[in-house]
Amino acid sequence: MVRFLTATIVAQLLCIVLQVHNSISFTTASQNNDKLPQRPTVNNGTATDPSSKSSNTDATPTSLTMSNKHSSKSSTDKIQAQAGKIEELKQKEAALSRLLAAVRLEKLSALQSRPLTIGVVGFGRFGQFIAETFNKHGRVVATSRSDYTELAKGMGITYVRLTDPARFLEEDLDVIILATSIVSFEGTVRNLAPHLKTHIEKNGTGRGPLIIDVLSVKEHPRQILIDLLPKECDIMCTHPMFGPDSGKNGWHGLNFVYERTRIDGVILDATHCTLGSTLEHDNVDVSKTFVEKGTGKIHNVHDNSESHVESIDRMERFLSIWEEEGCRMVELSCKDHDAYAANSQFLTHLMGRILGEQGLAPTPIDTKGFENVLKLVDSTTADSFELFYGLYKYNQNSLDTIVKLQASMNGVVTMLREMEEKDINKLTWIERNRSLAGMSIFSGESDFPRKSDLLRNPCMIFEEEEKRDDQGYVNVELELEFA
Ligand code: NAP
Repeated sequence: MVRFLTATIVAQLLCIVLQVHNSISFTTASQNNDKLPQRPTVNNGTATDPSSKSSNTDATPTSLTMSNKHSSKSSTDKIQAQAGKIEELKQKEAALSRLLAAVRLEKLSALQSRPLTIGVVGFGRFGQFIAETFNKHGRVVATSRSDYTELAKGMGITYVRLTDPARFLEEDLDVIILATSIVSFEGTVRNLAPHLKTHIEKNGTGRGPLIIDVLSVKEHPRQILIDLLPKECDIMCTHPMFGPDSGKNGWHGLNFVYERTRIDGVILDATHCTLGSTLEHDNVDVSKTFVEKGTGKIHNVHDNSESHVESIDRMERFLSIWEEEGCRMVELSCKDHDAYAANSQFLTHLMGRILGEQGLAPTPIDTKGFENVLKLVDSTTADSFELFYGLYKYNQNSLDTIVKLQASMNGVVTMLREMEEKDINKLTWIERNRSLAGMSIFSGESDFPRKSDLLRNPCMIFEEEEKRDDQGYVNVELELEFA
């Protein structure tokens, strides 16, 4: 239907373009024909044409004046005629651009009235969770390493095995969400990219689907997508800051972080992004500018390119799903996301995992605080350990978080020990056979920082040694050196 509409509109435009072209050709030809014999007379008496000079030598002044009068009148008529013609062409040109604007609007509204077809790669815990909601807003096609055919069928979702990516892409997908584990992300994109390339070559539109990742780390997938995807694919990096547990009662008020990364072949400089103004999306007018990464070139979202307008529109339509579900839209660069997430999300998971290692269980006298601790353990350990490992390995700030946490733990215990040492009140009602000072784990000044040291230098000093793993990622082995 959309294609038919587009074809009709293109045919109309072609007719108008031909009409204008014919009138331009005609005008040029007639102008040239008129102009050639007139050249000497429009020369204001300074003509150098020898034939005209000889015919004028014998003429009386009167006949010369009459002839000049006659020729000047006809040249004025011609200039007026030309001006009229140009005016007419200008009007046609204006009508044409009005028609083009109307056609683009009509095309956009035709596209908008068609729900998005969304492909989900990675139909695990999180992939299923988001696919369920997407299914209310559009058509969903899922693919994954394991076979989820029956489960998907029960959810009303089409399922294609990941072993057949060409078949998955034939589903005419507007958007593809990558929801695989962080550690398998690069391999998944590497496998998918050549199939996308073939698909784009085959469909002949020169445009690929919009590719979106939902990984809990952001700089890593951003780089992989830019490096590996065909340039015809737009890219958006996102992180819904919630999951199947925190979002089980709806997404209202939950944070959705996104960075528009590549639009119509242009990589955006997220640090200068004026699309969406501040951190808040707050229904901004997207008719703003954005800055190209590297060149600093300013682009307007309404650059005079149809594919550009379509790219923006597709991204907005995808974002509007999260908006409609009530999410708090946060536009943020991938770099800033990772800095914030290491000290919030990773820290939360780290604490949950550490506390989980203690084997905590409810007691008959639980406080609200302890109930929250148990909830934290439950919600963080419900995610796969692979996810937790991904948060650590692919966010360059995570290691800092671990080191700071260790130092803080030592600092707090130091404060207890110092207080205990100064405490002159001996325990009388209980035989205490243990104290912090007596515990071997905390003994020895060398591995036990003073609080004053921590305040000055909470991250501690460390030496690092770089090692690359088989995927080329740098692992840093730390050797802690306590001052
Ligand atoms: P996960 O353990 O991080 O990922 C599981 C998914 O990865 C499954 O779809 C699994 O496919 C796929 N997978 C694992 N290894 C693979 C491989 N070698 N090749 C291809 N696919 C592979 O758990 P998750 O909770 O579902 O998270 C998925 C993504 O969403 C992650 O990137 C995570 O960071 C992000 N995310 C999760 C949450 C959350 O609350 N859980 C929130 C926001 C974002 P099969 O099931 O077919 O084996």
